Amino acid sequence: MTRICVAVCEKNPDAFENACERANEWADVVELRLDCLDATPELIQRCLTRISRPVILTFRPAEQGGHRELDHQTRLVFWKSAPQTEWWDLESDLTFETDWSRIIVSHHDFSGVPNDLAQIYDRLAATPAGVIKIAVRANDIVDCLPVFELIERARSESREVIAIAMGNAGLATRILGPSRGAFLTYAALQDETATAPGQLTAQTLRSLYHIEKIDRETMICGLAGLPVMHSVSPHIHNSAFASAGINGVYLPLEVRDVKTFFTRMVHPRTRELDWNLRGLSVTAPHKSAVIECLDWIEPNAEEMGAVNTVVIENDKLHGFNTDAAGLIDPLLKLIGSLNGLRVALIGAGGAARAAVWALRRQQADVTIFARDVSKARALGQLFDVSYEQLASASFAEYDVVINATPLGSGEFIDQTPATAEQLAGARYVYDLVYNPIETRLLKEACKAGCKTVRGLEMLVAQAKIQFELWTSHTPDLSVMYEAASTALDQ
Ligand code: NAP
Repeated sequence: MTRICVAVCEKNPDAFENACERANEWADVVELRLDCLDATPELIQRCLTRISRPVILTFRPAEQGGHRELDHQTRLVFWKSAPQTEWWDLESDLTFETDWSRIIVSHHDFSGVPNDLAQIYDRLAATPAGVIKIAVRANDIVDCLPVFELIERARSESREVIAIAMGNAGLATRILGPSRGAFLTYAALQDETATAPGQLTAQTLRSLYHIEKIDRETMICGLAGLPVMHSVSPHIHNSAFASAGINGVYLPLEVRDVKTFFTRMVHPRTRELDWNLRGLSVTAPHKSAVIECLDWIEPNAEEMGAVNTVVIENDKLHGFNTDAAGLIDPLLKLIGSLNGLRVALIGAGGAARAAVWALRRQQADVTIFARDVSKARALGQLFDVSYEQLASASFAEYDVVINATPLGSGEFIDQTPATAEQLAGARYVYDLVYNPIETRLLKEACKAGCKTVRGLEMLVAQAKIQFELWTSHTPDLSVMYEAASTALDQ
């Protein structure tokens, strides 16, 4: 059974009371974090009458991740007169006469995974508490492993456990924990009121990850890279799974060391986790390094020197590159053929590399433009195409101009690799940047009278191929577009 516990934590009494009411909409259980404010007994009573779900009371001292300095005596006095609710969360240093079957005995480590995790579990399991809670900090995705082990162990010993790896690298434990037997998973009402690192909102757990549908049979896919939390791929793939009626979930997996991750968590012959992992998207900085972790690579990906998709077939790992086809598909749909067309490709990084490879296959006549002409030369020579300095280039002679730099997004949001004046005369302008959907370059291109292609087209086109590789189903493209556009608009 999947339970989402919404933690209510507000400094202001009115906001706290309101949050209790709003938590009912998303929560199976509500946790009142009474260390977040100085709550009077009357306020606590009013809050309890507003909550229609089972309640956990928590009064956490700062050294265990609470919001206030609370000495031992203050905590004992609090608990001795605390109202009866379904559960009380007590840190493991507190012992007094009460009904321990409704106690969650908890231990937190905000710095990492302690070496004596098993002994900590033994110590908590030796108390008469009904539920054991252990929350540690994941600094790498493999730190999820001991946490999943705790869940398995508790299950085999018929103990109720809440085991969480905090931080972005621990996200998998929050999303998959309940399906593996964890008593509950915590969530926030809003991002700003999260009570621990990596805690998602209850709305995200339900609407994006469909957590209540995840079970042990659920097919798991994910995005391996660093960073990954900004990605819209979970929106695209999870909506496609839901719309196709496939029991699947797609997670962001924050991976620092790709080799260790593949050995300990991915490869069926060596992994330490029994999970129904079907495939991965691979993003920066691992697209090249992942190659040595695989058993087979499609020839195209091998030529490009980059893998962005992994499929687990029985006990083998297969690598593919869907970036190149995803990049070309939207152009082919618009133009028909690229044979002999003059293409100006701006940038000489990873996306440009896939682009040159794919454009050459279409017999396009490519010129690479980069701010650092030595990088343009290196890529140009690798694929036998011409190259030029980007500064003050004119694109009048080109049929297609493609931006494969981050100009137009993030810290460069107001910038463009080419102005309307530089683009005048070109026929098509394709911006690989997809966030924002309408970039400054695309606006300049409209001014210059060029037809435009948005980076969102590539994002969805490459995701479609990944989805097909993992599921053998053709996804509903409109669902993928809608999910990506909505996520990017937020
Ligand atoms: P990358 O490997 O880091 O390469 C970035 C390229 O842009 C490098 O050539 C870099 O030049 C150049 N660059 C960076 N800042 C610049 C600036 N201020 N002025 C001029 N050139 C600059 O990144 P990537 O993976 O190729 O990605 C490039 C862009 O494509 C990103 O915005 C990414 O989001 C987008 N993309 C989109 C999709 C999609 O599905 N739509 C897929 C992949 C990538 P230096 O080497 O001199 O720094």
